[in-house]
Order: sequence, then structure tokens, then C-alpha cells
Amino acid sequence: MKIEVPHKVWGGMMERAKGNETNSRPKVLVVEDEPSLLDTLEYSLSRQGYEVSVSNDGAKALDLARKERPDLVILDVMLPTLDGFEVCRILRQEMSAPILMLTARADEVDKVVGLEVGADDYLTKPFSMRELMARVKALLRRVRMVREEVASEEKAAADETSPVERLVFPDLTIDLGRREMYYKQQLFHLKPKEFELLVFLARNRGIVMSRDLILERVWGWDYDGGSRTVDVHVRWLREKVEEDPSNPTRIVTVRGIGYRFEG
Ligand code: CA
Repeated sequence: MKIEVPHKVWGGMMERAKGNETNSRPKVLVVEDEPSLLDTLEYSLSRQGYEVSVSNDGAKALDLARKERPDLVILDVMLPTLDGFEVCRILRQEMSAPILMLTARADEVDKVVGLEVGADDYLTKPFSMRELMARVKALLRRVRMVREEVASEEKAAADETSPVERLVFPDLTIDLGRREMYYKQQLFHLKPKEFELLVFLARNRGIVMSRDLILERVWGWDYDGGSRTVDVHVRWLREKVEEDPSNPTRIVTVRGIGYRFEG
């Protein structure tokens, strides 16, 4: 049996992977209009630990699926209002949850498989609950493997693009990734230029930085405000990182030139 998985289905699955990682109890939607079979399915799946929602109608099942975002759909072919093939086609456009179709006749199997309505698997009635559970498990395992793969790829990508870099001094920590500053364990939110100025000075610890150089590096060469800007920002910073802002020991003034960060 050959089942085509359209590319966009996998794309959709990846999108879902982000949102549902923490959900440990898989949600299963059962769509079946035979009351006794619906009851049996609901009971058996609940006993296996699945979160089960049910519907006996094609159109209502679509609404329920949009609301519940199930991890798996078990779908009968012959249904009131909208048959299982239509429901399957529409669901495929909107979500990536695997669909297990329940068929009653050989010609329905042909449709499920041959016409590519997008079902992932099928069972022919009558079937045993053991068989159904095995298929459900296999389909959900496949989803989980894709999700784990996506999660580990995302983690690897995140590790590559945002290394955690911090500049640490006595009582002062500058978190470059989060753009946050902690002074005596207290978090301070700095204005963007204030933060950049602090980072620039801290990275050049012990070196005198002229106002002109600071302006050029922090504000950019085309900034046309005066060097007073630097002094104002240094004053703001001193209020946050100095024991006594009027007698600074961390960001010291070098008369006639600029500033030096002492650590
Ligand atoms: Ca039916």
C-alpha cells in the first residue's frame, strides 16, 4: 500500500510541533455514526490513556477538529451531512494530524488509497480493537518522532545563533543575549544606547575611550548630535552601576579625553 504524504502536510506538522510539545496525553477525535461502535471506540481509547472527543456527523466533526486540534483523527467513511472522504480532504488542507479511516467495503478502500484523499492509514470493518490500537500507536509514534526531530533541530539552530554571552564584573553582570543588566542582583532595563554604551566601555575595560570614538562606535559615524550626548548617557549609567554616582569608581572620567571603564 502506497500512501503519499504531501509536502505541505509535513510543513504543517512542523508548525504544530512547536505548540504541542508539552502535551503528554494525545488527543484523538473519533468520527463514527454507528452509536455502539462509537461508544466502544471512545471507551477503549480512553482506557489506553488518550484524551478522546467524539462526533457522529461529518460537518460537526470538522468544527470539532478545528476547535480541538487533535493529534489523530479516526474517521468513518459513511457519515451524515458530509462523508468521510470530504472530511478527510478538508482536514488535510487545514491540519497535519494523521487520519485513520474506517471503511466498510472494498470500493471504499480503493478510494482511500487510490484517490489519495490524504488518509494516513485505513482499517476495514469489522476490525479488532487490538488492531485499531496498534495502528493508532504507530501513527502517533510517527508524529512524535517528527516532533522530536523538529525540536532537536530547533534547539541546535538556537544554540548556534544565540550563544549565551555575559560580561561579569564585581556586582555587575551584563547579559548580551537578553540585553539586560544586573547590578547587585537587581535587574535594570537600560535604554538601547545606554546599554550599547555600557557594553562598549566594558569590552574595552582599562582603556581610555575618547568621546569622539564613543560617539562613532555607539551612535554611528553619521550621528550629528554633540558629544554632550555621551556625557548624559554616562551620567545615567553611573546612577545605576556606581555605589556613589558623584564619586564614580567604575566609569571614570579622564579629563580632556573621555571615559575609562575600570571593571
Ligand atoms: Ca458509518
